[in-house]
Amino acid sequence: MACALISHPDCFDHRPGERHPESPARLETVFAELERSGLRKTWVPYEAPKVTREQLERVHLPAYLDELERVSPKTGTYRVESDTVMSPGSLLAASRAAGAAVLGVDLVMSGRASAAFCATRPPGHHAKPGDAMGFCLYGNVAIAAAHAMAVHGVERVAIADFDVHRGNGTELMFRREPRVLMADSFQHPYYPRGEFPERAGYIPLRLAEGDGSAVFRRQWKEVALPKLRAFRPQLVLISAGFDALRDDPLASIELEAADYRWITHELRDIAEASGKGRIVSTLEGGYGLPAIGPAVAAHLMALGDCGP
Ligand SMILES: [Zn+2]
Repeated sequence: MACALISHPDCFDHRPGERHPESPARLETVFAELERSGLRKTWVPYEAPKVTREQLERVHLPAYLDELERVSPKTGTYRVESDTVMSPGSLLAASRAAGAAVLGVDLVMSGRASAAFCATRPPGHHAKPGDAMGFCLYGNVAIAAAHAMAVHGVERVAIADFDVHRGNGTELMFRREPRVLMADSFQHPYYPRGEFPERAGYIPLRLAEGDGSAVFRRQWKEVALPKLRAFRPQLVLISAGFDALRDDPLASIELEAADYRWITHELRDIAEASGKGRIVSTLEGGYGLPAIGPAVAAHLMALGDCGP
């Protein structure tokens, strides 16, 4: 079955500043590698739609959505919080990033694609119901999960977040949602700081500074993957951050591209066991250029059966 590569030119027009690590060059690197590897030809391109207000309001507060529209700059930039900066194109980019994740769910739920990858920015997993945070405006993966439950009647969604930072926004949005099981590997202690109360439905996998492949794989294999499999998800969503790579400037975990291929293969196996193979991945972090390119390619090789 087809594999969907969802993006939009608007996602390049979110410009938080020359020195900001979350730059348009990230997507340029990803697309250059997909071209080089031949994946660009075998994955079917889709243009990301804009997210709707209804889709946003499933996880965000109306007042927050109004506030983002109000502060969206006509020229220059506006700092929403310490790390999150908006340029004139940011809100549209964020709308496409969230809309891509929703389209990915529609494609796999309707059987038009088996796997979907959203090559979009800004990322989403730190965004809270009523706050921007950590480069994120809209909670892309959470919006996709809420859409799957509300529109497609999905009763069990697994979210796997392997970005090097804790997906605190996604976690917060589904704190009281028994239909979502989230597993999250992250460097600890690290951003975001602070302790979070443990709760059912969330599986934290803590990695220490300097940890690499062995610890990452052991944590997923021994702690998270058996629980995700036992949950029997009808849909698997991935918050795919590539900032746990050895060369990433923002973190200190030592993963290689092969580790992304491995974890993706494991997650796809779970999707195939209980969810007819339905799997949607959306780009989160990853700031080491050009290293994220090959890691994204390795991720796609395992995500769908659409290699070059
Ligand atoms: Zn991150």
